[in-house]
Amino acid sequence: MTDNPSISDKLLAAVEERREALVELTQQLIRIPTLNPPGQKYREICTFLAERLGESGFEIELIRAEGAIADSDEYPRWNIIARRKGTRAGDCVHFNSHHDVVEVGHGWTRDPFGGELDDGRIYGRGACDMKGGLATSIIAAEAFIATCPDFAGTIEISATADEESGGYGGVAYLAEQGYFNPDRVQHVIIPEPLNKDRICLGHRGVWWAEIETKGRIAHGSMPFLGDCAVRHMGAVLEEMETYLFPLLASKHTDMPVVPDGAKQSTLNINSIHGGASEQPDEYTGLPAPCVPDRCRIIIDRRFLIEEDIDVVKAEVAQMLEKIKAERPEFEFDIRDLFEVQPTMTAEDAPVVTTVAKAIETVMDKRPEYVVSPGTYDQKHIDRIGKLKNCIAYGPGILDLAHQPDEWIAVQDMVDSGQVMALALAELLLPH
Ligand SMILES: [Zn+2]
Repeated sequence: MTDNPSISDKLLAAVEERREALVELTQQLIRIPTLNPPGQKYREICTFLAERLGESGFEIELIRAEGAIADSDEYPRWNIIARRKGTRAGDCVHFNSHHDVVEVGHGWTRDPFGGELDDGRIYGRGACDMKGGLATSIIAAEAFIATCPDFAGTIEISATADEESGGYGGVAYLAEQGYFNPDRVQHVIIPEPLNKDRICLGHRGVWWAEIETKGRIAHGSMPFLGDCAVRHMGAVLEEMETYLFPLLASKHTDMPVVPDGAKQSTLNINSIHGGASEQPDEYTGLPAPCVPDRCRIIIDRRFLIEEDIDVVKAEVAQMLEKIKAERPEFEFDIRDLFEVQPTMTAEDAPVVTTVAKAIETVMDKRPEYVVSPGTYDQKHIDRIGKLKNCIAYGPGILDLAHQPDEWIAVQDMVDSGQVMALALAELLLPH
């Protein structure tokens, strides 16, 4: 039906007419500081959205992820699913956004929760990741429903918890409850900030593990009576530099991962702790002299669709065994923390071809297909929901996510909203 120029023009105009409403909605969402951790104001943002979408004729379901990781009475993990049925049977198109934002961090020159509009940009924590995308999907759906009230199927909009900390109190929980079953949802668009002319097909895999080296405590003036776990960890880091990092740099993928640096296997050391724990900043005393008997690091290994997770784990295990063979008294433990397989939706999947066509109509260019370096909630929709017809597509510049002075351009939201409205027409109107 988007081949019908009059409908297509009406939809583009309907989104454009809602530019101010889009700005206001984005600002309102930014002003609810849904910081994660700890997971605050989740109920407030869901109640706000319930009111907003209720007024637009959506049925509302508020769902607390009771019993999920991090859910508590102090910080309940609330989610919202809003549903608008058409006039007859058809596919269900679901827009999923996370409503949580990461910590503010240092270096801001704008109010992180002010939602300030300046020179066509809206500033604030979560502006691009991803309250701007959430607002865009809502405005696109409202514009579509107002223009084409006689549509088939169902539009769903969800705002979900905890994406920034794994999504267990959000999309994973909903997927376990059957909300992403392919029998009830056929197309999923996640408006993460991947840039308005790119379609994100999936993500690399991830494996987190903790490595611990063991020593023996003794007085710091006589280190020869103990065994320093930090020095053992030094040997691990040395082996990573000389062996593991070069090995990972040599592994390249055919997945279209962006940015370029992520087209290979990567490993980050997320943290290192050894010896006595650090005292609070206000503590004025000196530390006690002890030989550290424990040192721990957390590694964050990102792997490619061409790699097998068992091989990924074996590389690290073999590296540690090699050190043990060469280094007297070297003792270690390695503990799995978290893993997600890579995923990539096919370029000929219906949601991909539909959004690609809409991008061409709105921006007069062919979309770029990309894969995300890190995971996002598509992992749960794919693995728990068993729903493969899923992409990330939304406004905002990926590199600004989690940065100080995060912003989103109003024009990018309008363009992306037009793409979403055209995609709804393609999927929910008769041809
Ligand atoms: Zn995000």
